[in-house]
Amino acid sequence: MTDAQAQLIAEAEQRLGPKGVITDPKEIEPWISDWRGRVHGAAPAMIAPSSTEEVAEIVRLAAKHRVPLVPQGGNTGMAAGATPPADGSAILLSMRRMNRIRSISAENRIAIAEAGVVLATLHDAAHEIGMRFPLTLGARGSCTIGGLTSTNAGGTQVLRFGTMRSLVAGVEAVLPDGSIHSGLSGLKKDNRGYSLDQLLIGAEGTLGVVTAVALKLVPAVAARAVAWAAVDNPERALDLLRFLEARTGSVEGFELVPQDSLELVLKHVPNTRAPLLGEHKWHVLVEATTADGQHEIGAALERLLGAALQQGIIGDAVLASNDAQAEAFWKLRDTISEAERAEGQTLAHDISVTVADMPRFIVEAAAEVERRFPGVIASGFGHLGDGNIHFHVRAGAHAAPDWYESEGEEITRLVDDLVTAAGGSISAEHGIGQLKRAEFARLAPPGRIHALRAIKQALDPFGIMNPGKLVP
Ligand SMILES: Cc1cc2nc3c(=O)[nH]c(=O)nc-3n(C[C@H](O)[C@H](O)[C@H](O)COP(=O)(O)OP(=O)(O)OC[C@H]3O[C@@H](n4cnc5c(N)ncnc54)[C@H](O)[C@@H]3O)c2cc1C
Repeated sequence: MTDAQAQLIAEAEQRLGPKGVITDPKEIEPWISDWRGRVHGAAPAMIAPSSTEEVAEIVRLAAKHRVPLVPQGGNTGMAAGATPPADGSAILLSMRRMNRIRSISAENRIAIAEAGVVLATLHDAAHEIGMRFPLTLGARGSCTIGGLTSTNAGGTQVLRFGTMRSLVAGVEAVLPDGSIHSGLSGLKKDNRGYSLDQLLIGAEGTLGVVTAVALKLVPAVAARAVAWAAVDNPERALDLLRFLEARTGSVEGFELVPQDSLELVLKHVPNTRAPLLGEHKWHVLVEATTADGQHEIGAALERLLGAALQQGIIGDAVLASNDAQAEAFWKLRDTISEAERAEGQTLAHDISVTVADMPRFIVEAAAEVERRFPGVIASGFGHLGDGNIHFHVRAGAHAAPDWYESEGEEITRLVDDLVTAAGGSISAEHGIGQLKRAEFARLAPPGRIHALRAIKQALDPFGIMNPGKLVP
């Protein structure tokens, strides 16, 4: 521990008390590796403020002593953005004690939640007043509002409601000089220049610490319908989406699943079974919802799928007959990564191209990767309707145990090159963190990198906010 760190920790203890400053390595241990367990860091202390004023005090101390802080929520991020550097130079700033929902109103359709509120807790609170917060993802039991905001997270309802950027009505944050930006006023119109709120969304903790967020709510779901359909190829899957979108505004989930991924799930995940009989090359999971209790959403989706079948867009389809079956369909989608891990080594790429280009991209990029690296298996699954899929490359049965190290980096470079050539993004949802920083630096247009660095330097001249992340 450096002298500067020791001073900061002592002063933080005076202000926050023992609850707010943790130095026991055993208590810090679970928080210094990333969720996937691939990146390991070190930190001499974890500071856990319980109010915005306390966050401001800690940031002022960090600026005074020039000690970097790594903000952390649930530590579920996929780019190791919340993992401190391995040299122990930074202190973890856990936001999990700031976990109050300050207000929630069905009338205003707004909840003001502190950064450490867990997503599932917000879902429950909204449900209690007949509303919902329409963003969900697999980590909802652990990820926090601050982390979701700072990674501009997406999830499975983006098709209808957008990413965090569309759902955030305002941000309260402590800036790197310790001043408090309060954007929770609820103003619909505010044109006083640059939007700090928007800068902070997706900033991955590099421009300040998000302390509270005003979030938009929508009426709770009165009924939902979930269906599983078979298609010949991703192009047909997109045809189905267009077909449905032209006839109903209620589709909010539309996930593509290749046969190969389904087979892995059936092989490795207990209590799963294929929704349809026979072999199909590709599958689509569709969820439609309505807030109108009178609307027969199940019958409507069944009719539309029948028409799509008649027109040859889909090969078969089945509607979940109850909630348990709907959950069973979602389980097939949600456990793909888990099944892949059980099967062997897998490289995950969270990428986007335009929605229209995605079907061709999936097929051509997979063929190119498999041609250049014989033996590997490449495919894409996920949010087709957002032009965002998880493009995963599996090592194949005969790969060496050190496949990640020997071929992984080259494969990722090829995938990122193909995405960039298609005008896409090498990070659709998960951010840049530390894992994608080198590729971001290699492939981003110089103007974009220059702007990022200039903004970072202007707001955080001492480099105390999450150094080594996002900004190359
Ligand atoms: C099973 C699983 C499924 C997932 N599915 C999706 C998905 O479908 N879509 C998707 O977009 N993402 C998904 N994710 C990743 C997603 O990014 C995270 O779940 C979530 O957004 C991060 O929240 P967190 O609180 O865990 O943040 P952390 O992991 O703790 O932090 C993430 C980043 O935000 C910064 N940060 C955290 N809190 C603050 C704060 N208060 N102020 C400033 N910076 C802060 C950190 O420094 C870090 O850079 C998934 C993750 C898992 C484990």
